[in-house]
Amino acid sequence: MSQTKEVVQTGTVLDGTACAKAVREALALEVQTFVATGLRPPGLAVVLVGDDPASKVYVKNKVLACKKAGIESFLHELPGSTDAETLLKLIDELNQRADVDGILVQLPLPAGLPTDAVLMAVSPEKDADGLHPYNLGLLLSGKAGLRPCTPSGIIRLLDHYNIPIEGKSAVVIGRSNLVGKPISILLMERNATVTMCHSRSKNLEEICRGADILVVAAGRREMVAGSWVKPGAVVIDVGIHKTDKTDSGLTGDVIYPEAKAVASHITPVPGGIGPMTVAMLLSNTFAAYKKKHTHNK
Ligand code: NAD
Repeated sequence: MSQTKEVVQTGTVLDGTACAKAVREALALEVQTFVATGLRPPGLAVVLVGDDPASKVYVKNKVLACKKAGIESFLHELPGSTDAETLLKLIDELNQRADVDGILVQLPLPAGLPTDAVLMAVSPEKDADGLHPYNLGLLLSGKAGLRPCTPSGIIRLLDHYNIPIEGKSAVVIGRSNLVGKPISILLMERNATVTMCHSRSKNLEEICRGADILVVAAGRREMVAGSWVKPGAVVIDVGIHKTDKTDSGLTGDVIYPEAKAVASHITPVPGGIGPMTVAMLLSNTFAAYKKKHTHNK
């Protein structure tokens, strides 16, 4: 009796940890060449308000990543009871400081603080997160500027693996200013045909099945099943959720084992888009620093 061996196709894992490391190491060399000429190192101010445990971990990782890349970090930890006036005053001071090239305000801010006004207060030249409306406007109009970190990290990861974007059908789930809207624009800029989906979209599953590149940033734990993924598609999972079902204690917006069996490439959670986001934060800080020094020459 002949036995047919079932061939299970599994997608290549897009290793964001390794790619981010390569980006950070290249950046560290660039920083060194500037510092070797006698210039001060680049500086990133990190503002953390309150004691949200996840935010604390993110901030710690960002500060550590700065250190490894030769970027100085200035951590400002404020109590959760901080009022808007105090926070805006700090941002104003950071805007004035010559040794600060980038400012990052860790989100979410505690309830009651005006997130939009705070992001707007950051000088666009120091907007390391790329979330100031001025920079978002530059993105929309196709002009150079500081780009939001998570979306630019996605593009960098696709490029790292030589994944073609031009002419591909890309589907983005999520329309936040942080991820969904900017990644849609960046994909379109690279000549993908982009469909943006959100909480009111109809036939989501069917739309996803048409995607060559599927970016999921809905913030809904394991919402996308393997059956939503077109065979051979590239799946980018932006979501991060706590779980007790995995060794890492984290999971994404995609049911990873199911999607991996169908996709050509897939990002894991953790180790996918998270580290890329941090790498792009450093990259933005260095870009702001370089612009300052190149302009002052
Ligand atoms: P958000 O809550 O601001 O936006 C979620 C979007 O998803 C909304 O536009 C909404 O319309 C859409 N959505 C929600 N439920 C949906 C559904 N059932 N069907 C279709 N669309 C739906 O979230 P965000 O800030 O864009 O973040 C999304 C996820 O990505 C979160 O899990 C967040 O923690 C994670 N995130 C990760 C990183 C990283 O570095 N890896 C960075 C930013 C955000």
